[in-house]
Parts: sequence; structure tokens; C-alpha cells
Amino acid sequence: MLELDSLFVRYGGITAVRGISVKIDDGDLAAIIGANGAGKSSTLNAIVGMVPVAEGKVFFDGQDVTRTPTHVKVRKGMVLVPEGRRIFPNLTVYENLQMAGYAVKDWKSELDFVFTLFPILNERFKQSAGTLSGGEQQMLAIARGIVAKPKVLLLDEPSLGLSPVLVQQIMGAIKQINQRGTTVLLVEQNAFAALRIASKAFVMELGEITLQGEPSQIAVNEHVRAAYLGA
Ligand code: ATP
Repeated sequence: MLELDSLFVRYGGITAVRGISVKIDDGDLAAIIGANGAGKSSTLNAIVGMVPVAEGKVFFDGQDVTRTPTHVKVRKGMVLVPEGRRIFPNLTVYENLQMAGYAVKDWKSELDFVFTLFPILNERFKQSAGTLSGGEQQMLAIARGIVAKPKVLLLDEPSLGLSPVLVQQIMGAIKQINQRGTTVLLVEQNAFAALRIASKAFVMELGEITLQGEPSQIAVNEHVRAAYLGA
């Protein structure tokens, strides 16, 4: 479904991603965990084309999409829910969803699923998105991803700034999105939350993948426990 082959991302003299190779199969719920500045957002942004790939390749559904423009990738089914939510605060919940669904036919067919996951968005449908709570805004950001009908949904730090209860709710929703058939690539600093739902995990440090495998095994790795799980 998604393959990164020796991917590099550079910002001037800074190398943020150092030749990572990652394979994500159809139906996976893959998690990349790592600390601040490890290069997780740079990886996601390079996959979707928001920052240029300096070296290496991105394959999606068997095609080389390394230089494919972002809007074309969206139409092919590669959708990013960016860090920091990036909703339109002056538009209503409905208008935010409408804009996210612009590229697909019949985006409204996803609304039932969205409201099953996040009933509060139904209650807030005509409310300005800027007046939603942080958790509700994160739900809206994920809902925007859903109505774009992705084959692969990329999520950048969805737990950021949320209370433990909300983190659990958001992670549960991500699991349900995956169980419904969407491949997911989740990037998280919250290793504990991500490893609980993932089917495959990658640890990223200083721009490199230093460990990968079954989440249950990653979770008992001594380095991971000390560095990311507070053990
Ligand atoms: P965080 O969780 O804090 O977002 P991250 O793992 O997503 O961290 P990135 O945001 O990808 O990490 O950053 C990786 C490195 O690249 C960092 O050293 C960061 O300072 C640098 N970096 C990111 N964006 C830029 C940019 N636009 N210009 C210059 N350096 C950048």
C-alpha cells in the first residue's frame, strides 16, 4: 500500500530524515513513535508532498508518487490529518467537512460513520469550528480525513494536548477507522497510546528507524521502555 525507499528529507543544511525504508501493507495500522524532532512530521509531510523528498522514493498502491503533487495524491486516496488540526476556525463544522470532501464523490455518505465515531460533531454541526474544544477540533480534523475517503490515512500526533480520556477516545476511533478497511499510518510521541492500537510499529530517532516490529514486542524493549514509556 505504502512504501518508503531510502527516504531523505533536508531543510537547507539540516537532514531531518536519514534514508528510512518503511513498508505498510493494505489493512495495517502502523505507528511511528519517537521523541520531539525525531523526524516524524517531516516523514509524513514528505509522503504527501508538503515538503520535498531530497532522496529516495515513495510508492503508493504500486506506483512511484515521489514527485506527484499533493492534490493528486489526495484524489488517489492518500490523506493527511496534520499536526495541530489545521481546521478552518471561521467555518462551521459542516463547511469544514464539505471542504475536505471536495475531491471525492458523495462525501456525505461518510457522515453516518463520522457521527457514530464522534456524536458531538452532529450536535455541533452548524457551530463555528473555532469555538469547539481542543478535543472536538481533533475529532473534526480526523472527520475531515474520513470524508476524503482515504485508502491510507496519515495522522500526525492526534493525541497532542489532549486529556488521557480524550486520547483513549481518539485512539479508539482510529482503531475503528482501520477496522473499517482504511490503512492507517499514525505518528505519535505518545508511545503508550500508539502501541496499544497499532498492528506494526516503528521507532524513529534522529531521522532514522532504529527499531521495528510487533507493537507488543516493541513495548517490552528495554530502550523503548526507558526512553518512551517512562519505565
Ligand atoms: P515533533 O513531534 O516535535 O513535531 P518530529 O519528530 O515530527 O517532532 P520534525 O518536525 O519532522 O520532527 O523535525 C525533524 C527535524 O527537522 C528537527 O530538527 C526540526 O527542527 C527540523 N525541521 C522541521 N521542519 C523544518 C523546517 N521547515 N526548516 C528547518 N528545519 C526543520
